[in-house]
Order: sequence, then structure tokens, then C-alpha cells
Amino acid sequence: MFDNLSERLERSFKILKGEGKITEINVAETLKDVRRALLDADVNYKVAKNFTDTVKEKALGQNVLTAVKPSQLMVKIVHDELAKLMGGDTVELELKGRPAVILMSGLQGSGKTTFSGKLARMFKSKKNRKPLLVACDVYRPAAIDQLKVLGEQVEVPVYSEPDSKDPVQIALNAIQEAKAKGYDLVIVDTAGRLAIDEQMMNEIAAIKNAITPDATLFVVDAMTGQDAVNTAREFNERLDFTGVVLTKLDGDTRGGAALSIRTVVNKPILFVGTGEKLDAVDLFHPARMADRILGMGDIVSLVERAQEQYDEEEAKRLQKKIQKNQFDFNDFLGQIQQIKKMGNLKELASMIPGVGKAIKDIDIDDNAFKSIEAIIYSMTPQERTHPEILNGSRRNRIAKGSGTSIQEVNRLLKQFDQTRKMMKMVTGSKMAGMMQKMKR
Ligand code: GDP
Repeated sequence: MFDNLSERLERSFKILKGEGKITEINVAETLKDVRRALLDADVNYKVAKNFTDTVKEKALGQNVLTAVKPSQLMVKIVHDELAKLMGGDTVELELKGRPAVILMSGLQGSGKTTFSGKLARMFKSKKNRKPLLVACDVYRPAAIDQLKVLGEQVEVPVYSEPDSKDPVQIALNAIQEAKAKGYDLVIVDTAGRLAIDEQMMNEIAAIKNAITPDATLFVVDAMTGQDAVNTAREFNERLDFTGVVLTKLDGDTRGGAALSIRTVVNKPILFVGTGEKLDAVDLFHPARMADRILGMGDIVSLVERAQEQYDEEEAKRLQKKIQKNQFDFNDFLGQIQQIKKMGNLKELASMIPGVGKAIKDIDIDDNAFKSIEAIIYSMTPQERTHPEILNGSRRNRIAKGSGTSIQEVNRLLKQFDQTRKMMKMVTGSKMAGMMQKMKR
């Protein structure tokens, strides 16, 4: 994401390269480009203008005869100001009530229902909460079913009243049910419309008045650019919401929404959605987002994601096997599954600095491992644990069984062999040390 903007900024910073100092003239040139880039990324005009004015003031005030190059200094100033514009610090959602109640708002298709599922999953697994999801859309029966499917996936019950036409009452009943059954978090998904209309606004405002939630979240599709800001403004006027959830940041989206919403509605962005899968959600980190805009990658998120999936016991077990040269295809399969659990591969890769842009047009998907898995699944248990017995006829059988070719099977065996050798080389204290470092 933000490829456009980061590329433009990069280019405009180049103008400053080779200049000995920041002067009124070269700063003006660069900032013109910065502003144009922001506008192109759908940033609100006033926000962009204020932004470049602040950067200019900061830049001209700097002592230019220091060790850093003017271009580096500008990157730093632009980075810090971007982070500030997006709220500065990460804001945590405060939930005091028992049960705590969260009300979802937003247009249809913004990702409200998906995010309700993600939020339930997140609070359940990370905060040890007992959530109850509530379906308050009385217009589309399919919406109830959708929430039920999500609820099943994250193993959280869904409260609904298919025959009721009164969303306020459904929400109130759900909270009673939560109290009676010991749920400590109620997530109320509401009906959305394709565009803002009076009836929808009245309805959600009525729900909010009746249930006085601990937090009202406004969910918005980041791909809708300038419209996202307008929608946010209107919802905020009616609901005075707590914070914003920016979804679909994994898409080919521009940065405008993230940059302007905070300034225009003066409410923090709390979460970001980064994919359709239910674990594709992150807290919003302004500084990291600024890194990303400037093409510095989102390495901190990447490391956190890796840590979350890292299983210490499993790592120890593997290390022992590697030392004894017993690392086999079952372990290999386990490693692949581990990587897949971390989420969308392209999304992960794009967080690595310098990689984002390079892979923009390449299609990496989670199917990349499919044929490898098929090959391993076609092996007998004995073949998996003792790959050295894989002779020509066995390889032929495996190729047929997995719907691949003998070349693919050979390639995998070669890769496996190399992996095994490499692992043996780096095993022992070195690898343990590396893993420990990751943990910290
Ligand atoms: P609702 O109408 O607001 O409840 O929206 P849904 O939750 O039904 O989402 C609409 C579509 O957007 C669905 O196809 C979701 O899978 C998809 N979606 C939701 N969040 C994300 C996200 O963060 N990234 C991507 N790529 N798709 C998303």
C-alpha cells in the first residue's frame, strides 16, 4: 500500500540530494512535490497544506551544517510529522464495563462484520475475554448467517433474533443474555447501507442511546479514499464515535484515509484490517505507518507476527532433531504450515523494507506451497522419515500421486537436502541464540 506516495516522496527527496544545505528554495521545491504526492493519495487538501507548512517551518529551523545530509534530515522531519498527523502514539481501546459493550458502525461493505469476527477472536485469544457477537441487521437475513459463520470460525457464540424487526431491542436483549450467561464482552454488529441515509443514522443512534456502549467503532474501507473522510465526518457528527477501524489496507490502496481521518474528525485510528482472514488485523501504529509510507517497511509488525506464531517447545524439539540429522519431511511440512499460519505471504513479504515495491506486481499467494504439500502427502510415512530411500520408481509414483512432475519432485528433494545441510551447519548455540533474540 501507499506505493504511490512513497515512490513520489522518494523522488522528491532526490532533488535535495547533493545539496549542501536546506534553503528556502530547495525546500519549497521538495515540499511542492510532497504536497502533490499527498493530494494524489487522496489526502484532504487542508491537511496536506498544513502538513507541508509545518514541515517547512521545521526544516528551515534546522542547523544544516550537521553530519546528516539534508535529504536524510527531510526524511526524518517528514516521517515524524506524518506519524504525528496520524495520532502520534498507538491508542488502546479502553473497556471498563462488565460486560463491556462495543458497537460497530459503518457503511455496508466496509468490513464491519468481518472486523467484528476479528475483534472477537483477538479479545478471546489475547485478552482472555469471553465475547458474545450480536447480529442487529434486521434487513438482510444473509447478514445474520454471515456473522454466524464467522462466529463458528472464531468459536464465539452469536446472538440473533431472526423474527425481530427491532434492532434496539435485540441489542438490549443480547446484553441481558451476556449478563445472564457470563459473557464479558458484547460486540454489536449493525446494519449498514451502501450510502449514508437518514434511517440508518437514526437507527444506529437509537441503538447507541439505548445501550450506551463502552466504545463505538467506525469501520471504513481504506480504498474509498476521500469518501472515507466524508463518511467518517458524517458518522462522527451523529455518533461521536470512539475510534476508527481502517480496513482493506492490504489492497492497492492509497494513504489518504489514514492521513486525513485523524485530523478531520479528531478521533484516533485504533485498528487496521489487512486481509480477509480472521487473523489479518493489527493495532494501528502511527510511527510504523509513517515508516511504511516512506518505504522503510513495517519490520516491527513483521517481527511481532513472527513472535506470536513462535512455539518455543516446538523449536527445541526441532533443534534436537536437526542436531541428530533426523529432520524429516514431517518437520518440513510442519514448518510450511507454520509459515502459512502467519498469514498472507505477500502481505508478510511487503513488510520487509525494500521488498514492498519490488513485489508489487508479482503474484505470490498461499498456493505457493500447494504442490510441495501435495508431494509430501503422497509419500509413505516411511519415506517421510527416511527420505534417503526415495529411489527413481518411488519418485515416479510420488509425482503421479501428487499430480506434479518428476522434475518437481527432484527439485523438492534437492531443496530439502540443502535445507537439512544448512540447518545442521547453523544449529546449536547459534540458532538458539537467534531464536532467543526474536523472542525478546
Ligand atoms: P460489512 O458489510 O461492512 O459487514 O462488510 P463485510 O465484513 O461483509 O466485508 C465486505 C467484504 O470485504 C468481504 O468480502 C470481506 O471479506 C472483505 N474484507 C473485510 N475486511 C477486509 C480487509 O481488511 N482486507 C480485505 N482484503 N478484505 C476485507
